[in-house]
Amino acid sequence: MILRDCVLLDLAGSSRRDGAELRVTDGRVAEIGVGGRLRPAAGEETIDAGGRYLLPGFVNTHAHTAMSLLRGTAEDMREETWFNEHIWIYERNLRSEDVYWGTLLGAAEMLLAGVTWVADHYFAMGQAFRAYRDAGMRADLAWAVFGTGEGWEEQYEQALEFAVGCRDREPTITVSLGPHSPYVCPQGFLRRVAEAAVEHGFRMHVHVAEVERQVQRSLEENGRTPVEILESTGVLRPGTILAHACYATDRDLERIAAAGAGIAHCAKTYLKFGDLPDVLPRALAARVPVGLGTDGPASNNTLSILETARDAALLAKCARRDPTVAAVREVLPLAHCGGRVLGVPDYGTIREGSPADLVLLDNRLPSLRPGGDVFADLLYSFNERSVDTVIVNGRVVVREGRLLTVDLEELYARVGEIAGRLTRRNTDRPMQHY
Ligand SMILES: [Zn+2]
Repeated sequence: MILRDCVLLDLAGSSRRDGAELRVTDGRVAEIGVGGRLRPAAGEETIDAGGRYLLPGFVNTHAHTAMSLLRGTAEDMREETWFNEHIWIYERNLRSEDVYWGTLLGAAEMLLAGVTWVADHYFAMGQAFRAYRDAGMRADLAWAVFGTGEGWEEQYEQALEFAVGCRDREPTITVSLGPHSPYVCPQGFLRRVAEAAVEHGFRMHVHVAEVERQVQRSLEENGRTPVEILESTGVLRPGTILAHACYATDRDLERIAAAGAGIAHCAKTYLKFGDLPDVLPRALAARVPVGLGTDGPASNNTLSILETARDAALLAKCARRDPTVAAVREVLPLAHCGGRVLGVPDYGTIREGSPADLVLLDNRLPSLRPGGDVFADLLYSFNERSVDTVIVNGRVVVREGRLLTVDLEELYARVGEIAGRLTRRNTDRPMQHY
C-alpha cells in the first residue's frame, strides 16, 4: 500500500514534512519518499491523503475497556462510593461474554479516535482477545487478579493459563500479568505474580498510589510507600506499567526510573474525582517514561487519547498553578509515548521499519484554521471528528471516518441489553473493598 500527499508529523521532534509519501509492506513502513517518487506495484493500493496529517497511532497505556458498558452509571461521587456502592456491585453481574461486547464497543471507539494500541487491564481476557482481533486493534492484555476474596486462587490460575496460552497467538496482541494493586493484593500474592512474570517473561500492569490516602495508609501499616512495596515484592521491574502513581514521592519516581518501569497517567479520571496531583511534571523531570491512559469509561467516560493529552496538560498547569509547565511540545508526544512504556520505543515515530500503525487526520474544520501551529492545534483544538483513516499493522480499519471491521448497529443493540442487566442491584456486597 502507498500513502501519497501526506503532511508527515513527528510529535517528538515537532517537525513536519509536506508532500510525504510512504509505502507499507507486511505491517511495517517500508519506504518513505517525497513528491511521487514511489511507484505502485501491480495491484498495490494507493491512498491519496490529500494533504491530511499523517502521524503514528495514539497509545492508550491504561484502560479497562469493557467498562464502556458502565459508562455514565456512577457520576459525581467520591472514589470509595464509586467503587463500593456502584462499580464493584455492578461487576458482580458481569458474564464472560459481556466482556467481548464491552471490549468491542471500546475498541470501536478507540479506533475511530485514532487510538491503535491499548494496554487493557480487566477480567475474562479471552473474550477481550477475541474482540481486539475482530476489531483489528493492537492490544496488550492483563487479566486483573486480586489474590484475595472468594475464588481468587482459581481466578489467578485461569489468568495465568490465559497468558501462557495466548502469548503468541496473534501478531497484534501481547499479554501481561495484572495484579490489581498493593492496596488490594496481599504482599505474598504480589511476590508470587512477580515470580511468575519472571519465569514466563511477562510484563506486569498494576495500579499504584492513585490517591494520597493510600500512601499515608501504606506508610502507617507497612512503613513503606506503595511503590516501595512493589519494589520489595519484585513487581517494580523493567516494563511494568504503573497506572496512576499520582502520589509517588520524588524518591519513588527515582526508583521507578531506575527499575525501567513506566507510568500511565489518566488525567481525566483524577479531574473527575476532584484531585489535582502534580505527578506529570515531576515524573518527566525524573525521566520516568510516561504514557497517557484513559482508565475505564466508567470513570473517564471516553477512551480518547487526544482528549486525555489535553486534560493532562490542563491538570498539570492547575496543579502547579503555573501555565508554563506541561508545554505543548512536552505533553503531545506522550500520546505516543505509551509505546515506550509498552517496550516499543520507536512506536511514536514514522521511519522505515517502524510498525505501520498510522492515522490520517483531516484539518478541514473551522476550529482547526488557520492552523498556525499544528502541534498546538493537535493538543488543544483537534478532536476525534478529524480522524479520517486508521491503519493497524498495515491494514486499513477506518476509512473516511467509517469503521470497517465492526457492525455498529448490532453492537449497539447488544451493549444496550447488557448494560440494563449489569446495573441491576442483586446485592449490596461489592466484589472487593476499596
Ligand atoms: Zn485503572
